[in-house]
This record gives sequence, C-alpha cells and structure tokens, in this order.
Amino acid sequence: MITTSVHDMTFEGLTEWLAERGHKKSRATLVWEWLYRERTTDFVAMEGVHPECVKALAEHFHIESMSEHSRQESKDGTVKFLFRLKDGNLIETVLMRHKFGLSVCVTTQVGCNIGCSFCASGLLRKSRDLSSGEIVEQVMKAQRFLDGRGLGEAVSHLVVMGIGEPFDNYDNLVKFLDVIKHQKGLAIAGRHITVSTSGLADKIYTFTDDDLKVNLAISLHAPNDELRTRIMKINKAIPIEKLFKAMDYYLEKTRRRVTLEYILLKDVNDQREHALELAELIGERRSLVNVNLIPYNPVDEHSQYQRTERHVVSEFFDVLKKQGVSVSVRLEHGTDIDAACGQLRSKQIKKEAVAN
Ligand code: SAH
Ligand code: SF4
Repeated sequence: MITTSVHDMTFEGLTEWLAERGHKKSRATLVWEWLYRERTTDFVAMEGVHPECVKALAEHFHIESMSEHSRQESKDGTVKFLFRLKDGNLIETVLMRHKFGLSVCVTTQVGCNIGCSFCASGLLRKSRDLSSGEIVEQVMKAQRFLDGRGLGEAVSHLVVMGIGEPFDNYDNLVKFLDVIKHQKGLAIAGRHITVSTSGLADKIYTFTDDDLKVNLAISLHAPNDELRTRIMKINKAIPIEKLFKAMDYYLEKTRRRVTLEYILLKDVNDQREHALELAELIGERRSLVNVNLIPYNPVDEHSQYQRTERHVVSEFFDVLKKQGVSVSVRLEHGTDIDAACGQLRSKQIKKEAVAN
C-alpha cells in the first residue's frame, strides 16, 4: 500500500529521490510544475514527464491523501472545509477572503494536547501529528476549490492557526513551510505567513535560530501568571517570564515584529486593569510587538466563558492605544457558519459517536 504523499517531499528531497533512481534532476522541476502550478491529482496526466519517471512516482506516492467530508460557505466568502484523512480522522481548514488577499488557516495536529480552557480543539486530546504533506495538501485543496471557480484567484497568505500546536509538530512544520514557500511551488511569501504558538519557549529559540523568515504570533491571552495559568494550563510549565525571554531572543535576532494574541473573555481578562497591566508587561517592547485582540468564539462545552461586549472591546483597545501599544482587533470570518476553529470537527465527531 502506498503510504507516502508526494506533498511530503521537499523540492530537494524529490530531486534526490529521482536522481537515486537514475532520473535527470530537471524532471523534479517538471513534476513540481504539474503538482503546484497545474495542480494535477494524477501522475499519468503529467505530460512531458518521462513514462518511467511517472511509473516510479505512481508506484511510490499518492497525490491525494484526504477527501472532502463537508464544506460550509459563509456569506462573507469564508469557506470551512472538513477533511477526512486516510486513517479516518477529521481535520478542519479555513479559506478566508480579505481586502489584501486570500488566506488559508491550516491544521497541524489531530486534536491538541495543550488543552486551553476556551478552545474547541483542545477538547479532544491529540491523536497524532499531521505529516508535512497533509498540511501542504490542505492548502492545495483550498487552491483547487478556487481553481474550480475559474476566476484565477490564488491563495496569497497563510496562517498556522488551525487545530493543534504547530511547535509540538516542529519538524513537519518546517518541512511544510519549505514546500509552500518554494519558488517552484506555490511560492507564498514568508512575510505573508504567520505561525501561532501557545508559547513553547524552547521551540521559539529553535524557530529563531532556524531563521525561517515567517511571522510569529504568540497566544498570550493574559497579563499575569495567575490569570494565564487559569485559562491556559501550559503557563504552569512555561510562565510568562520564560516565554518573554524566548520572545526577546526572537525579537533581537530576527528584527521582526511579534504579534501577541489576546482573546477577550467577558469579566475574566477584559477589564481596564488588565489592559494597563498588559501595557506594563510589554514595557519597552512597544515598538516591536502588536497586540491582536480576538473576540471569543463561544464553544458549547466552555459555557463558563462569554463574549466581551463590543463597547468593552473598544475600551480595552483605547487603553492600550493610549499607553502607546500598537493594537488591532481581529476581524471575524464566517460568523454565520460554525465559528470557532475546531468546532466543525468536534461537532461532526460528536455526531459520529452518537451514530455508532
Ligand atoms: N495552538 C496554537 C495555534 C492554534 S490556535 C495557539 O494556541 O496559538 C489559534 C488561535 O486561536 C490562538 O490564539 C487561540 O488562542 C485562538 N482560539 C482558540 N479558541 C478560540 C475561541 N474559542 N475563540 C477565539 N479564538 C480562539
Ligand atoms: Fe491547542 Fe491552541 Fe487550542 Fe490551546 S488554543 S488548545 S494550544 S489549539
């Protein structure tokens, strides 16, 4: 049985793989053109590629390793895909329409072990990491969906903010970024890619040293350890001081700005004093970070949390602004469809559990 996806191969990896089998290195370029420019799903359709090469590829790799289980389309152009993996697991991918382009939000793991108290993804523990090919394929599926519309639209931005903790699947994340940024592939610019972490400090050092030239977002969500531990239990193991030390290393070494994500939970972390404390915590890093306020998407299982009212969001925003902190509010996408990331998946899993 073929178990490897051709999307698991970096360009260099495929070139080597072909060379080892006596094929000219230049064939890798042609194969990648068929895969990423023509977006074919069948090796046999790769016209111009030597038949022996096609045969070898078809014997070792598959192009599609997941099928679309369902799709929800929102009035604002957001499309949520639920994909069924070969082992039966379900994952979610979201395509969003912005003024600046089209972005895809990818999943990196089946479930998540970090278990943040407000998140639908953490309700189900991680059953496995996704391979780099499975992450690449999510982008390909979204791109083929656009191709099908025939408007010549292309995915221009990527956010690694779907189900899972990308830094807990680090090697596959790096491989995925290599494929997706590669000039011979989809060539998505590093400055258009953002990886979000719940704050695995060790990996922030590695990520910095690897100099991947993509943006980093850190899920902070609280201005002090007491509150952060209450809503994100990972803070017990990696408290804010340790996290900020790693962030400072990143800021200094890469000279790139960091986004601090801050989910607003009614009466929990959304008061004026929290905004002031956050500004103080940021301190002299004001010119190096941007705070992104995230309206909470209610999750049925987490009924202890409510959404912050709009005027309170504005007040929180204004306090930060007055303190000289660069701040934005995340625009919401697809509020008329299953809103929170991981929700579509957890709903379907519940349905299947009832049916069995
Ligand atoms: N595991 C990584 C990336 C995936 S989560 C991380 O935690 O950063 C991506 C973002 O969605 C995080 O900032 C996370 O806190 C946020 N998020 C999770 N559940 C949410 C919810 N119910 N409403 C709004 N944002 C949520
Ligand atoms: Fe995992 Fe991120 Fe959800 Fe926390 S917010 S449980 S780290 S996916």
